[in-house]
Amino acid sequence: MSPADQPMRPGVGAEATRARNVQPPMASSRAGILVRQALDLIDAPSAALDPLGQIIEVNLAWDATARLGGAAALTTGAGVSYLAICDMAAGEDTDGAAESAAGIRSVLSGAAPRFDLDYPCADRWYSLRVTTLGGFGGVIVTHLDITSLKEAELRLQQEERRLHLPFDESMPIFALIGEDGVVRRRSPTTSRLLGLEVDVVLGETAFDRIDPADRERAAIALSAVASTPGATERVELTVIDGEGRRRQLDVVAANLLHDPDVAAIVVTGSDVTEGRRAQISRRLESRLMNVLPTSVVVTDERRAVVYWNDRATAIFGLTADQALGRTVAELRIGALDDERSDEIRAAVLLRGRWHGEYDARRSDGSVVPVHSIVERLDDEDIGFHGIVAATVDISDRRRLESEVAYQALHDPLTGLPNRSMVLDHLDGALTRAALRGGITTVLCLDLDDFGSINELVGHVEGDEVLRAVAALLGSVVYAGNMLAHLGGDAFVVCCEDLVDASAVYVVAEKVLQVLKAPFRLGGELRTLTASMGVATSVSSRNGDALLRNAESALRVAKGAGRGRVELFDDVAHQRARQRHEIAGQLEQAITEGELATWFQPEVDIVTGALFGFEALVRWPHPVRGLMAPDEFIAIAEENDLIGALGSLVLTDACKALGRWLELVPDHPLTVSVNVSAHQLADSGLASSVEQTIDRCGVPADRICLEVTESALMDTPAAASALRALQATGVKIAIDDFGTGYSSLRRLKRFPVDFLKIDREFIAGLGTDDEDDVIVSAVVNLGRSLGLRLIAEGIETTEQLAALDELGCEYGQGYLWSRPLPEAEATAFVHADHRRRIETAGG
Ligand code: C2E
Ligand code: CA
Ligand code: CA
Repeated sequence: MSPADQPMRPGVGAEATRARNVQPPMASSRAGILVRQALDLIDAPSAALDPLGQIIEVNLAWDATARLGGAAALTTGAGVSYLAICDMAAGEDTDGAAESAAGIRSVLSGAAPRFDLDYPCADRWYSLRVTTLGGFGGVIVTHLDITSLKEAELRLQQEERRLHLPFDESMPIFALIGEDGVVRRRSPTTSRLLGLEVDVVLGETAFDRIDPADRERAAIALSAVASTPGATERVELTVIDGEGRRRQLDVVAANLLHDPDVAAIVVTGSDVTEGRRAQISRRLESRLMNVLPTSVVVTDERRAVVYWNDRATAIFGLTADQALGRTVAELRIGALDDERSDEIRAAVLLRGRWHGEYDARRSDGSVVPVHSIVERLDDEDIGFHGIVAATVDISDRRRLESEVAYQALHDPLTGLPNRSMVLDHLDGALTRAALRGGITTVLCLDLDDFGSINELVGHVEGDEVLRAVAALLGSVVYAGNMLAHLGGDAFVVCCEDLVDASAVYVVAEKVLQVLKAPFRLGGELRTLTASMGVATSVSSRNGDALLRNAESALRVAKGAGRGRVELFDDVAHQRARQRHEIAGQLEQAITEGELATWFQPEVDIVTGALFGFEALVRWPHPVRGLMAPDEFIAIAEENDLIGALGSLVLTDACKALGRWLELVPDHPLTVSVNVSAHQLADSGLASSVEQTIDRCGVPADRICLEVTESALMDTPAAASALRALQATGVKIAIDDFGTGYSSLRRLKRFPVDFLKIDREFIAGLGTDDEDDVIVSAVVNLGRSLGLRLIAEGIETTEQLAALDELGCEYGQGYLWSRPLPEAEATAFVHADHRRRIETAGG
C-alpha cells in the first residue's frame, strides 16, 4: 500500500470533483437534516450519498477522520461525488478502490442490498459498509476502523501457529459472536461456506448451521469461553453447508469481550473437510494396502522398488526396508523363468498390462507360484513412470488343484490310476502306436470269487486284500506299462509296443503266477485266481472302445470259469453287431409280412407218392438276397420274435393246405411246420395253434408240428406242452432225431407220431458203416415205439435204396425237390394227383 494514498478515506481528492458539483439536493431540506442527525448517531465515519453517488451529508466522525487525513479532507462534504473519488483512486491502483466503486454502484442500482469490504489503509484496517438509505434512493457509506479486530485475528493466527494448529492462510472461518451466541459479523468466505447471503446477519445464532449432533458440544465450548475473559477453546465441529452436505470445521473461539476494540467472542478456523477426507483415505489406503492378501510393489523407471506393502514381505521374504530403493534384479525376486519375465515386461510395455501365473523366486531362492496383475503406472501430475505389480500367492490353490487332479485320476483305495486315467493313457499310447507301429493291449482282470472273500473277512480286510493284490500286480508290470484299478476287484494292465498280441499272454501268465502265492486270510491260507479279458489295438484304435472290448472279453472269460484268459474276438464282436442289426430288420419284415413260406415235398419211399410238405421259412432280404432260416432263426429266438414268426409260417402253411385240399379234396396231404424250443416253452402255444387252424378251416390232423429232439430235452415242460398240442388234433414229429441223445425211456413219455431222422446220418448211408448202424437202429426203435419214420436230406438213389431196405417209410430231400414257393409246390401236388389217378386207373 502506498502511504500517500488514502483513497477510501473521505475527503481525499475531493477538490477535483467539487467544482463540478453545485448544490447538494437535500442539503437544507428537512430530509437532509434528518439524515444528518441519523448519521451522527453512528460512531464510525459515515456519509449519505444520493442516487448519483454524490455526498449529501457526512457525520461528525467522517469530518473528524477527514481532518485527520489532511487539509483537503476538511472540505469534504455535501456535493462531492464520492463515486468519482473512488474511481479516481481506482485509476491510481489503490487497494480496494475499484471494488468499492463497484460495490457502491451495485447498492445504488438496487442490484445488491448492501456491500462490505475490508481494506487496509496506511497502518490500519477499515471495513467499508454500503447500505441503502431508506426511501431516499441513496446509500449510506460507513468506514469502520477494524484495526484492533484484525489485530485480534492476527494474534489468534499466531496463537494457532504456536499450537501447531492447521492454519489456513485464507482463514475462511471468521465470525464475531456475542456472549449469547448471536452472530454479529462473519466473513464473506464463512458466509459462502455456510450458504448464507454474504454478510447479511439477521439475528442468527452461531448454532444455526451446526450439525444438530454437535450443537451441545458447541454450546458447552462457547459458554466455557464466554465465562473467562481471554479464554480460548478449540473445537472441531460439523456444519451443514449451503448444499446440505456436512463439512468439518476446525475452529478456535477466543473471548475478546473485554477488549473494547472487539467486544466479542472471535471465532476463527478453517474448513478441514477435504484435508480430513484426504487424510482418512490416505490412512485407510495404507492400512488397506497392508491388510490386502495381495502383494503390491511399485517400481520406477529404473525398476527400483518405490512401494512395497506388508504382503510383499510375506510373499517375497523381504521387508520394505530391504526392498525399497533396490531393483528387482538386485533383489533377485520375480519370475523364475527369464523368458516369462521378458514376456511380462514386453506385454506391459506394449499393452500397458499383463496378468497371469508364473513361478516366482523368493529372496531365499525358494519358489512360490503366484498370480500377478502387472500394470504400467504413469502419473503425469507427479511425473512418475513405473510399474505396479499386484501379486497373490496361489500355492494353496495349486496344491488343491493338483490334489483334485490326482483324485480325479486315481483310485482312492489303491492309489492306482483309475478309469479316466487309463483312457487318457490309452489315447496317448494309441497315438504313439499309430506313429511307431506296435500293438497296444489292454488286459482287464477281475478276481475270481472276490465277493466270497469279502463276505468271509468283511470289507475292511477285503480292502486290504485289494491293496495287496495291487502291490502284487505292481511287481509284475514293467515300468512304462500302466497298472490301474477300475474299482471293486477289477484291475487293468495297459501294455505298449508289443510285437504281437500273443505277447500279452506272457503278462497274463505272470499275473496268474503272482496271484497264486498263498496268503493268510481269515485264519486260513488262500490263493487267488483271476479271470482276464484282453483286447488289442487290432480290434480298435479308440481307447474307450479298446477298454470296453477287453471288458467284454473278461465277461466271456468269467462265464467260462475261473482263471481264464480270453482274447477279445473282433469277428465275434462284428457278428454280434450284425445280429443286432438283423434283429431290427427281421422285426420289421415280420410286421410288414415280408417273410415267405416255402414248401419241400415229403415222399413215400416205397411208392414215390407225395405224402406232404414241410413248410420252411424264407426271408427275401433287400440287401442280402433270399435268406435261409439258419441265418435268422436263432436271431428271432434271441430277440423274442420267434413266436410271431412261427405263427406266420403256420398260418401260411394252413392256408396253402386249405388251397391244395380244395384242388385235390381226397388227397391225404400233410403239412409239417417247425416249432422252436422257445415256442414250446410258451404256454399259449397250443391255443394259438388251434386258433390258426380253426381260422383257416383245415383239418388239424393234416398239420404236423416238428419239434427238435434237443428242444424236447431242453424244455422242462416239453411233455405236457406236446400233450396240449396233440389235444388240438395236430400230429407231432421229433425233428433232427439222433442228434439229441435222448433216452428211450424219456422218448416214451412224449406223445409223438413221427420221427425225422437227421440228414447228418442219411448223408453217410451206404458209405459210412456207423451211419448205417445208427439209421437202422433208429428205424427199428421207431418201429418198436409205433412211430412213423421220415428220413431227411435224401440226395441220392443209393440213400433211397438203403432206406427202402431198412424199411423207412417216408423221405424228404433234394432227390425229389428242394423247398419250393407255394405255386411250384402246387404244381407238385397236381402232378402227384394225376399220377394217383393214373395208378388207380392203371
Ligand atoms: P430242418 O427242420 O431240419 O429242415 C430241413 C432243412 O434241411 C431245410 O433247410 C431243408 O432245405 C434242408 N434239406 C432238405 N433236403 C435236403 C437235402 O437233400 N440236402 C440238404 N443238404 N439239405 C436238405 P432250411 O430250409 O435251410 O431250414 C433250416 C432249418 O431252419 C430247419 O431245419 C429248421 O430247423 C429251421 N426252420 C425252417 N423254417 C422254420 C420255421 O418256420 N420255424 C422254425 N422254428 N424253424 C424253421
Ligand atoms: Ca424240420
Ligand atoms: Ca430236420
